[in-house]
Amino acid sequence: MIDFKNVSKNYEAGIQALNNASFHADHGEFFFVVGPSGAGKSTLIRLLIRQELPSEGQVFFEGVEVNNLPATLLPVYRQQFGIVFQDLKLIETKTVEENIRFALEIVGKRKKEVNETTDYLLELVKLTDHRHLHPQALSGGEMQKVAIARALASDPILLIADEPTGNIDPESSLEILSLLQTINSWGTTVMCVTHDREIVDHLQTRVIHMDNGEIIADTVGGYENNKKRKK
Ligand code: ADP
Repeated sequence: MIDFKNVSKNYEAGIQALNNASFHADHGEFFFVVGPSGAGKSTLIRLLIRQELPSEGQVFFEGVEVNNLPATLLPVYRQQFGIVFQDLKLIETKTVEENIRFALEIVGKRKKEVNETTDYLLELVKLTDHRHLHPQALSGGEMQKVAIARALASDPILLIADEPTGNIDPESSLEILSLLQTINSWGTTVMCVTHDREIVDHLQTRVIHMDNGEIIADTVGGYENNKKRKK
C-alpha cells in the first residue's frame, strides 16, 4: 500500500527533514511512527498526502507514484486518506453533528446517506448524546473522537492519526486506541504518529522509529523494543 523508496526532503536553509527514508506498509496494518520532535514524522505524512514533494526518492501509494500525480487528481487522491490532524481542525462554529455532516457533504454524499452515516459515526464514537454540542464544550478525548469520526467520512483506506492522544488523560487515550483498533479490524490501515509510550506498549505492534530525518529502526513490540521486524 505505502512504499517510500530512498526519500529525502530538504527545506530551505539546509534543513534536511527526511534523509534517505525507505519503508513499506501493507493493507490492513496498524503501525506507529515514533520519534522526538523534529524527527521528520510530519514531513513523512505531508509527502504521503502530496502536500509536499520529495527532494529525492519516490513515494508510492497503491502502486501510483505520488510525485507524478497531476494537480487535478489530488482531491480524489486525498480522499483515500482519513487524517486526524494534531490540532484537530474542528470547526468551532459548528456542532459535533454539523462537523461530521459537513465532511460527508464535501465528499459528495447525498442527503439520505449524510443523515444515516452521521448517525452511524456518532454511534461509533459514542457521542450521540453530544451531537448538538460545540467542540468547546467537549473534553479533549471527545474532541479527538469527533475528529476521528469526521476523518472516516470519505471511507478512507488509510487512517492517519497525528498524536491522537496528545493532550488527553491515560484512560481516554486507551479508549481512543481501542477505537482505532476497531476501525483497523474492519480492514482500514492505521498509521499512528505518537510520542505516547503507553499506547505503543499497550498494542505491541509495528513501530517505525525516526530520528533526525532517518528511519532508525522498524520493530515489533513496545516503544523500547529492539526486536527487528520480520519481513
Ligand atoms: P516531527 O513531525 O517529527 O516533529 P517535522 O517533520 O515537522 O518533524 O520536521 C522535521 C524537520 O524539518 C524539523 O527540523 C523542522 O523544523 C523542519 N521543517 C518542517 N517543516 C518545515 C518547513 N516547511 N520549512 C522548513 N523547515 C521545516
